[in-house]
Amino acid sequence: MATVSDNKPHVLAVPLPAQGHVKPLMSLCRQIAKHGIKVTFVNAQSIHHKILSESAAEEEDDDSDANIVMTTVPDGLTPTDDPNSPFTLFQTLPKTMPQTLPELIERINGENPNQKISCVIADLSFGWISEIAEKKGAEFVGFSPPSFASLAVLLQIPNLIQQGYLDTNGSLEKIDLVSLSDDIPSWRKDEFPWSISSDLKIQKIIFDTVQSYKAADKAKWLLSNTCYELEPAACDLYPGFLPIGPLHLVEEAKTMEKSRYDFGNFYSEDATCLIWLDTKPPGSVVYVSFGSLSFYSQQQLHELALGLELSRRDFLWVVRRDLANGLQAILPDGFLERVVGFGKIVEWAPQDEVLSHPAIACFVSHCGWNSTLEGVSKGVPYLCWPYFADQFHNESYICDKWEIGLRIDCDENRIRSRYEIMKKIDMLLCESRFKENALKLKETCAKSIGERRSSYINLMTFIDHLRKCTIS
Ligand code: UDP
Repeated sequence: MATVSDNKPHVLAVPLPAQGHVKPLMSLCRQIAKHGIKVTFVNAQSIHHKILSESAAEEEDDDSDANIVMTTVPDGLTPTDDPNSPFTLFQTLPKTMPQTLPELIERINGENPNQKISCVIADLSFGWISEIAEKKGAEFVGFSPPSFASLAVLLQIPNLIQQGYLDTNGSLEKIDLVSLSDDIPSWRKDEFPWSISSDLKIQKIIFDTVQSYKAADKAKWLLSNTCYELEPAACDLYPGFLPIGPLHLVEEAKTMEKSRYDFGNFYSEDATCLIWLDTKPPGSVVYVSFGSLSFYSQQQLHELALGLELSRRDFLWVVRRDLANGLQAILPDGFLERVVGFGKIVEWAPQDEVLSHPAIACFVSHCGWNSTLEGVSKGVPYLCWPYFADQFHNESYICDKWEIGLRIDCDENRIRSRYEIMKKIDMLLCESRFKENALKLKETCAKSIGERRSSYINLMTFIDHLRKCTIS
């Protein structure tokens, strides 16, 4: 039973095994640890090794300065599973963790009788972990990394299925739109947080995974990586959830010292781009990055390269090693030579620092929620290029609700052409209203994290509660 005693609180944190989920949960854990509460952060083995190999950390797992211990559970992969796909882990971990996680908790509790796991914070996509927490006498806290609007529609899944509007694959039937409020952009067919129309097998895996959001009703505390100021209409739909973000901004405001696992990157950051940005005039560079899970055809990447070249503006482009549908992108013949002087390509950037750099003019983005929060909090206007899942709705926020960006439209062959890319870069940078709106939104967002502000108060209320939550 959770009681106030000499025992110390100990949080076990379990993310969904994907870059955009590990990073914000780790940010939250660093805040918790900073207030003296011990945290054990559990990754699947392969994710843990990615983070270790891409950070300066050595092969050990105790970051004691920061009160955070990193540990692992087995991936549960069979010899035929694809070890590089996070979607494989979405399927294997729910099968293996019901056994491996209780074993881990028992081991930790046995080793630290005064610091038993008192609270389990899990990504709500793994909401079934609530049952494990309950059996082990720990409080369950649900963490939701996407926007509050996405969270709200995820919580509506059981209703939508019951009313016959969603089939078992998560495809919309009978109606064309789902709307939760006049003040929140609606969701169109194929634009839900689980949608990926180009791969219905993956869509089904994501749809099955996110149905775990229904475990929210088992949680005493529910946390969302957003702020009220950014999404008031969505936040008002579920007042039981506490907006505590943007978490990256909370961390910046606290000027925390870097720990070895600081950003939980799956790729190593190439900081040479910051030196390159220093050589560029203010507001001159187009930053292009599509997060960790978006893939494009070789033809599409050629069009993008040629669009950037045609625009004749300075650009910084993150070309992940697997960006071309899982393979290294092959850039157009002579491209690198022709763009010397105005183009810089890296495999992975220190994105938050890049977006803070005065040289950045705009962000060509896949609109992942972390990338959205990061650009919004820096006052950067967007060109939107969503790939899947909640990215479509984030695009609607950016273009229709906040009016800080433009869509890059596809042609009849579903390709974003070099001419469309060049045109939209010009439109975005020539019309001052996008930058003006972005700067206003930056101020709005900043209001949430100062002391006595909404997200700050919510976070501190939660941390104060954690301090009192121990197991005897
Ligand atoms: N990111 C980064 N460097 C890059 C590209 C992305 O550090 O070159 C980070 C980015 O700052 C964000 C995360 O990776 O925090 C990606 O999360 P997001 O939700 O934007 O997209 P996802 O990868 O989940 O599709």
